[in-house]
Amino acid sequence: MTQMLQGLMQDDFPLTLNHIRRRMRDCNHGSELVTLLDDGSVSRIEHPELTKRIDRLARALAALGVEQGDRVASFAWNNQRHFELYVGVPCVGAVLHTLNVRLFAEQLTYIVNHAEDKVIFVDDSLVPVLEPLAGSFESVEHYVIMGDGDAGGLPGALRYEELLEDAGDGSFDYPELDERQAAALCYTSGTTGNPKGVLYSHRSISLHSSATLMADGSGLSRADRVLSVVPMFHANAWGLPYGGALAGSDLIMPDRFLGAEPLAGLIAAERPTLMGCVPTIFNDLLRYADAHPEVDLSSLTNAACGGSAVPRQLMKDFEERHDVRIFQAWGMTETSPVATYARPREGEHDDAYWDDRAKQGRPLPWVELRLIDGNGVEVPWDGISTGEIEVRGPWIAAGYFREDDEDKFDSGWLRTGDIAAVDEKGFVQITDRAKDVIKSGGEWISSVELENELMSHPDVVEAAVIAKPDERWAERPLCCVVLREGSDADAAALIEHLRPKVAKWWLPDEFAFVAEIPKTSVGKFDKKVLRGRLAEGTLEGRVQLS
Ligand code: AMP
Repeated sequence: MTQMLQGLMQDDFPLTLNHIRRRMRDCNHGSELVTLLDDGSVSRIEHPELTKRIDRLARALAALGVEQGDRVASFAWNNQRHFELYVGVPCVGAVLHTLNVRLFAEQLTYIVNHAEDKVIFVDDSLVPVLEPLAGSFESVEHYVIMGDGDAGGLPGALRYEELLEDAGDGSFDYPELDERQAAALCYTSGTTGNPKGVLYSHRSISLHSSATLMADGSGLSRADRVLSVVPMFHANAWGLPYGGALAGSDLIMPDRFLGAEPLAGLIAAERPTLMGCVPTIFNDLLRYADAHPEVDLSSLTNAACGGSAVPRQLMKDFEERHDVRIFQAWGMTETSPVATYARPREGEHDDAYWDDRAKQGRPLPWVELRLIDGNGVEVPWDGISTGEIEVRGPWIAAGYFREDDEDKFDSGWLRTGDIAAVDEKGFVQITDRAKDVIKSGGEWISSVELENELMSHPDVVEAAVIAKPDERWAERPLCCVVLREGSDADAAALIEHLRPKVAKWWLPDEFAFVAEIPKTSVGKFDKKVLRGRLAEGTLEGRVQLS
């Protein structure tokens, strides 16, 4: 008798977002989704009720002629209707293309036409941004306005709530989906050329969402209240909406109110346990909370920060002054995005512990990582040797949508463009973006480390370090710094602050005291702009040390 060695498990059970939808309907009783509204009040809806609206949306999509594989775009902030699209569009087999509302006009036109979006769902508050571009979109058949606000001149605009009303009650006959089919599409602005489309599959999102429930990742659970500040157009809001829906967490959406004051109010009122956003927003929130001692942020026991290096001092200040714990994660649009998470073993909060917290963390289970040097040789994990991070795993992109970019992929590994060292414990420490590295006299200077050290000075609000061409050394670090209002710190004081912390030859010989560090559309320091100003001679506040 031949023994059957495979096929005795339900290996064909598809990992699709329909499972998340069914869990919300059947298992998430009592879990709510909260959205901050224009008048400062909030709307609330429980997950099972939400799935009834998603069923209506599914019918409305069919009525609009949306078919499997069609791209359906959203142009929206973080709110309930955007979440309904997150689940509804992929569950009917279409692909949700989350448009970054902060992109330049030409980039938006490029990506809508490149993706061939058929329908665009737009928040009423964003109609004025989209309207001037509508004439340049070649494939869009319908605009659907979310909210009661003015539809402006968007041609043939339909109303979201009317579509749902007309769609009627009752369950929807969702199609059987292949777990490998596309569910969502997000463009990322590369270093060169046009933005590139990353196409997430049902399987990749399902597995990434499961990873958000891992205790050594963001550890989402039924007990969490998750405030998703990171925009839903930035790499699926780092997986928090899908992960929260899978876990049955409460989800709290700030819509477009991302300033420190409304966020602090929302945190005090709704008591989230977890919040995800870039360091810039945490930085604003810290300054606001320091200035307003009545603000209570202490419900945030498990905040997630990433998108750029998270200064150690920022995490320490939050923990010591506001009882808020922030953990650092690293990833990119191409990695769904979370790939590593900095969760050292608990114990004494000594320097070694904080060294680990300030790193980008260990790869999550199922993510494999290696470092490759400039000669294509893998470098050891000794905490010192650096190389470009390459990653592979079930939620890592294997290519771009309708674009050949073979340079980004290396026999099944994604080249990330991030330079890092990895220590013996598997903790990754990013030293630079490949395009940002500073090479002085043939040796690397880590701009990330200099920035971190500068931002640990109590008077430094933001610091971005770029390379300045130098005749003798090829490049030298130039530190662009934003000082706290009223501070009288000067270049000499900052040098004294750095002196005990970095190698002597890393000490900058030039600062630029600027009013603001320019930011990208997803809130990261835009060093390209700073380098441009330096080249043009328009970089303000420059102070050279002799
Ligand atoms: P994006 O695709 O827009 O999310 O950008 C991804 C890039 O952001 C990565 O390749 C890194 O350069 C940077 N990044 C993300 N998280 C971190 C982090 N924790 N520390 C340093 N850089 C980060």
